[in-house]
Amino acid sequence: LRAMNRLYTLEKPLTFSGKGAMIKLADLMVRSGSRRPLLVTDSFLLKNGMLDGLLEFLANEGCDVTVYDGIIPNPTFAVVEEGVAAIRAGKCDSVFAVGGGSAIDAAKVMAAASTSKKSLDKLAGILKVDQPLLPFYVVATTSGTGSEVTTAAVISDTQTHKKKFFVDPKYLPVAAAFDTDLLVSLPGPMTAGTGMDALTHAIEAFISRARTPATDRDAATAIRLIVEFLPVAYSNGNDEHAREMVALGSFLAGNAFTRAGLGYVHAISHQISAHYNTPHGLANAILLPRVLRFNRQVSAERFAELERMLQGNSSAPYALIQADQFIERVDALASTVGIPVNLDDLQQKDFASIAKDALAEARSSYAVPKVMRKSDVTKILNSVSNGS
Ligand code: NAD
Repeated sequence: LRAMNRLYTLEKPLTFSGKGAMIKLADLMVRSGSRRPLLVTDSFLLKNGMLDGLLEFLANEGCDVTVYDGIIPNPTFAVVEEGVAAIRAGKCDSVFAVGGGSAIDAAKVMAAASTSKKSLDKLAGILKVDQPLLPFYVVATTSGTGSEVTTAAVISDTQTHKKKFFVDPKYLPVAAAFDTDLLVSLPGPMTAGTGMDALTHAIEAFISRARTPATDRDAATAIRLIVEFLPVAYSNGNDEHAREMVALGSFLAGNAFTRAGLGYVHAISHQISAHYNTPHGLANAILLPRVLRFNRQVSAERFAELERMLQGNSSAPYALIQADQFIERVDALASTVGIPVNLDDLQQKDFASIAKDALAEARSSYAVPKVMRKSDVTKILNSVSNGS
């Protein structure tokens, strides 16, 4: 990550926020010359009429839109291949994704694969894109992954039960939007899981050894916004201000972690989702307090700094006490938004391979504050499966 940040100065994409932001983004796309976009979304958003206004706007602008609505949570290589075929059949000149991280990630890789001679396998990895992508635009509807501002896409390989990473600055969209008209319809459990995902991004970036003053600033602001507004958005989904603040928190968290990296919550949860198709945010939310406890000593000063920020208290006499208060706060937030303490899907027979792959992911991709052993991961998996 440090090497990537030296090679590239990442710019945040242009963003539109609030009511009607999706149409403003579409207007930008049309003014930039696109006439044949591929709309990437899932059947739920399409069937519920949430994209009717967008389709009407694009039709009025004379656009010939191809719709791909086959997005599924934890999208697969097959999904990306279908999208690429749709781009070719529709002679599309741009990609417009509306959805959560699954739609955005799949759209990113569709936009790359459609202009590349490489197979998807060869595009997977770090800095593998050597040609310009189709211009792509994203409307983020879940407030969790931060994919609208990250250089990464995550696609599941159903053959190997592994999530493959596609990481390159070219995966930053031209522009992004958070439209409150769409955000308000996210159901409570998904609001909770995706919001906790965003919180995880911010905390893992804040304790990463690759952090910088700029990532610290974004991560800390994200934590403040999510801690304050996620319970409001969860208990009153129609509160547009709370929805927008959580979306902003998710965006800032994405901006922080795409530079500073993640940690063991993600390293473990990616393997869990690849095995059992567990929603990404939910897996992260359940793992987060356990991994924070693992880092309690080594990251005590960092956690204490966050706790002081949240309490509005600048004195720092007892770092460990404040660190514990912060971890308890995260636990309490998870419980307030209805996150369960265990995952019933986990199976003992998979623990060895989950642990091995989690350690490999962390070793190759993240600057973690404290290294786990296989037994540490197994202990966490045991506690997740029996709720202890
Ligand atoms: P998701 O995109 O899988 O969406 C989950 C569900 O929410 C879907 O069924 C969808 O129809 C529904 N939904 C989305 N928006 C809605 C709305 N406004 N109203 C009602 N329903 C709505 O969930 P996610 O958590 O956003 O994305 C998870 C994926 O993102 C995983 O594959 C994960 O690996 C990936 N991810 C990517 C990055 C990155 O940097 N690229 C970071 C973290 C996670």
